[in-house]
Amino acid sequence: MPTSLDTLTSRLTRAQQATQVAGVAALLITPGPDLRYLLGVSGASHERLTCLVLPADGDPTLVVPALERPGLDSTPVAELGLEIAEWTDGEDPYGLVAALLGRFGSGPVRTAVADAMPAAHVLGLRAALPAGEQTLASTVLAPLRMRKNSAEIAALATAAHAIDRVHARMEEWLRVGRTEAQVGADVAAAIVVEGHTAAAFVIVGAGPHGASPHHDVSDRVVQPGDVVVVDIGGPTPEGYFSDCTRTYSMGEPADADVADCYAVLQAAQDAAVAAVAPGTTAERVDAAARGPITEAGLGAQFIHRTGHGIGLEVHEQPYIVAGNDLVLEPGMAFSIEPGIYLPGRWGARIEDIVVVNDSGATRLNHRPRELAILPV
Ligand code: ZN
Ligand code: ZN
Ligand code: ZN
Repeated sequence: MPTSLDTLTSRLTRAQQATQVAGVAALLITPGPDLRYLLGVSGASHERLTCLVLPADGDPTLVVPALERPGLDSTPVAELGLEIAEWTDGEDPYGLVAALLGRFGSGPVRTAVADAMPAAHVLGLRAALPAGEQTLASTVLAPLRMRKNSAEIAALATAAHAIDRVHARMEEWLRVGRTEAQVGADVAAAIVVEGHTAAAFVIVGAGPHGASPHHDVSDRVVQPGDVVVVDIGGPTPEGYFSDCTRTYSMGEPADADVADCYAVLQAAQDAAVAAVAPGTTAERVDAAARGPITEAGLGAQFIHRTGHGIGLEVHEQPYIVAGNDLVLEPGMAFSIEPGIYLPGRWGARIEDIVVVNDSGATRLNHRPRELAILPV
């Protein structure tokens, strides 16, 4: 379902209010997740500048290359009644943005630029506004994007169920004698078949490769007794991401310590999910995941944060990490993904997406979390 016009209108209004509160004259948003959040379009125009100029008060304007203009007719942009400022190849689009900001006077103009804005555009805007000051749009928009409405939670649940269906079929592809790359190619195709527009990432880390959390795939042949970390996800047509890890074993694991360590990992993942509630902090959830792993003497093997927010980006705020005292609120969605990594030997991770509800957490992924023993 496309985002409703009412939702987009209220997001634009709230973004303007937050911009005002932040003491910023305008948000400058190029194509990416922020633009999709605010206007319901991707608007990609490569090296040419497309930029939403959203002033703290007054009418928003979309600066757009002339050749991209017709493509907007069938998008919410037409219905939102945005001002459009077209520019043609050979003209200076940064000067156009500066002219739109001109009404804020000749003093330094404080703007907030989309976090993922290409450096070419950041510097182009800086040159056009030499006295201006740039800050990151996430300071204004992350608090909005973190709090998902019911339609967004439904979209994340749809994505989670789609990736659950891929994990449910893992035995079809993950077999002894095949390479991680062969397995990964089949999994990537299934990610699309099961309801995503693309496979954003496919990690198949067999044996020692499982000890590298962001391993990709390789030509390593899956062996009997291998523990295999499979971390997969992608965007659905609505733009919301899935991200789910399960750990498999090719028959009984070759290493004797797998079962005990895995039990610790499962306890850690459960403890972190149980710690999620409105009013608690992100860092307390991270500490809850770390507790059982540290107690088992494996604290040094859990080498990353416990989780990350998810939505129109696969990694976004809130980050579930030590030092983040952000107070959790209903509607926040993030991963809970502790891992144990034994370099040169094996690794394991369990990852679910959860949403903060009125009293705790709702898990969006439902596949069993036990070590999945596959036939050899
Ligand atoms: Zn990751
Ligand atoms: Zn993740
Ligand atoms: Zn993941």
